[in-house]
Amino acid sequence: MEGRVALVTGGGRGIGRAIAVKLAEEGAKVAISYRSNDAAAEETAELVRKAGAGCEIFKGDVASSEAVEALMTGVGEAFGSVEILVNNAGTTRDNILMRMKEAEFEEVLATNLKGTYLCTRGVLRGMVRARWGRIVNISSVVGLLGNAGQANYAASKAGMIGFTKSVAREVAGRGITANAVAPGYVETELTGGLPENVKEQILGQVPVGRFGEPEEIAEVVAFLAGDGAAYVTGQTIAVDGGMAMQ
Ligand code: NAP
Repeated sequence: MEGRVALVTGGGRGIGRAIAVKLAEEGAKVAISYRSNDAAAEETAELVRKAGAGCEIFKGDVASSEAVEALMTGVGEAFGSVEILVNNAGTTRDNILMRMKEAEFEEVLATNLKGTYLCTRGVLRGMVRARWGRIVNISSVVGLLGNAGQANYAASKAGMIGFTKSVAREVAGRGITANAVAPGYVETELTGGLPENVKEQILGQVPVGRFGEPEEIAEVVAFLAGDGAAYVTGQTIAVDGGMAMQ
């Protein structure tokens, strides 16, 4: 991955941070995007630079086409065309469906699914020109299994899987792969707020018997982003301690 240009959306915290650091350790220059937490993004940038790579941070909402356009221009000016895109920015607005507000549904679909579409569209032309590219979309085990209280999130994450397969088919002949990674439950701020009894319940469904670490997701992303994964495309790799054996 030496010298490759990587963009990790939602790289400010959690899984995205671990992915940014891992790609940097593998030699990539890393741009990260985030929505609002400046301090966390600065911290990621420090960690990436410590890993020996260049890092630039970009604030903006992945659901906004103007913000994504600005992101692409910024990354292009700093590093050149994006060669590795990790669509990791994601959010939740949990509610049972009978109570789910339209805004809760739309916000989750906008960040998780529309954001993936906008960022992928934004990098694809450059990848086609270079006849090389890696797109890794961070879906979720919830997109495979469904989850009560997360119909919006599950729809967005299942949507990412269909999106990934379609893009993979469109660009397979151009040296570009597109794959999805479906993490199980990983301890980050996204899951930190879950009540203890819910965590216990989830743990009961994980054959490995523990939550995952962000670094364990980053390992698989790094594999998919490398030259060695040229013959893997359109796949969804669950990294979930065995929760959703496919
Ligand atoms: P997290 O700790 O909440 O971090 C989310 C990151 O995404 C933050 O950097 C946040 O920016 C950024 N972000 C959120 N909405 C954004 C938007 N509209 N535009 C730009 N950036 C945005 O989440 P995480 O647990 O690391 O999750 C990362 C990805 O893995 C998500 O797609 C999530 O759905 C998926 N996932 C997580 C788990 C899990 O158990 N944690 C399981 C399965 C899948 P700020 O820092 O500025 O807020």
